[in-house]
This record gives sequence, C-alpha cells and structure tokens, in this order.
Amino acid sequence: MAEHEHEHEHEHDHEHGEEEHEQELDEATADRQREYLRRRALAQIRQYPDVALRMSAREVTEFDEFLVQLVERLHELMHEAQGVGLAATQLGVLQRVFVFQPDPDEPFRAVVNPRLTLDETEKETEEEGCLSLGDVRVPVERATKVVLEGKDPNGEDVRYELDELAARVVQHENDHLDGVLTIDRTDPENRKRALGALRPQPTFA
Ligand SMILES: [Zn+2]
Repeated sequence: MAEHEHEHEHEHDHEHGEEEHEQELDEATADRQREYLRRRALAQIRQYPDVALRMSAREVTEFDEFLVQLVERLHELMHEAQGVGLAATQLGVLQRVFVFQPDPDEPFRAVVNPRLTLDETEKETEEEGCLSLGDVRVPVERATKVVLEGKDPNGEDVRYELDELAARVVQHENDHLDGVLTIDRTDPENRKRALGALRPQPTFA
C-alpha cells in the first residue's frame, strides 16, 4: 500500500564545501537509482483494472520452495516499489500470502493463510495509497487494532497483535486476497473521483 514518506530537508547554505557538494551529487544519484527501481518494480505489479486484482486467492496447501520464492519476490518488489505491504494477487498469483513492513527499521513479515480479527471498538479514517492504483489515494475507515494469525512460509503458526499503521496495512493486504480494493471501501464521492483518475486516457495517434 502507501509509500514511505521520504522527507528530504536540505539546508540551503550559500557556502558549500567541496565535500558537501559531492555528497549532494551522490544523494541525487541515489535518488535517481531508487526512482528507477521503484518504476521497474511497479511495472511487475498488476495495475488496475487487471482482472487478477478482483480475484479471490486460494488457501496455500504446500509449504514448498515455490512459496519461499514467492515470499522473496514479494519482499523485494515491496521494498523496491517503496511500499509497506504487497499481496500475492498483485503479482497475479492467487495464493493467500502477503508481506508487510510498516516500519522500515523493523524486519518485514510474511503471512500465509492469514486470519484477521478486528477490534471493532475503535476505527479511524486515513488516506491509503496502493501499489496497484497508481497515484490514487482515498480515505478508508479501518479498525485501529487487529490480531493477525496464520502461518509463516515454513508452515509455523504466527500471531501478531497490531495497531495503528501496521493494523491498517494488514487489513489492506488481506482485502487484496479477496479481490477488494481501497476504492470499494471509500465513500461514494471519493470512489467517483478515483475511478475518474483510473480511467484509461484516450490516445490520439
Ligand atoms: Zn494495495
């Protein structure tokens, strides 16, 4: 889902040292490289209105090498696309698997056959982006606390108690496994606006 916010605060000093100038050039090169990787990853992620995004994924029954490779690929693409989560359906793989990493300083997690229990007592509405919906961001109401249970890629049971952004991300990714997108969960006005932005533009050749 939503990208990490990259905040660059450059001090604009009139007396740049040579070293500082070189460092800025390095940063610019690194930014270009990150942008290249982001676009390359997005090109491998199914984009709306790809039919795979509307399909329900099946329970995973084989904890095999294919699953391990799928999780590696999900992790790599999520990272390169600067996302905080990615579901297998977004790669056209109809298996109930997603990865998430709401905090870049914490390790990513992969959950197979996830089951979510929402604490319905508190909900919050925030804007969500999606790696399959281009620049579209729409407000979505989500439970602020969830319990996520399932298996890790080795078939071991996992259980996470999550709140705030992590809770939001796993609800978003779990929706992907049922073919549900943010545009289905937002209010009618924002849905209309989003669908307008997602409509293919006519090309005049
Ligand atoms: Zn998404």
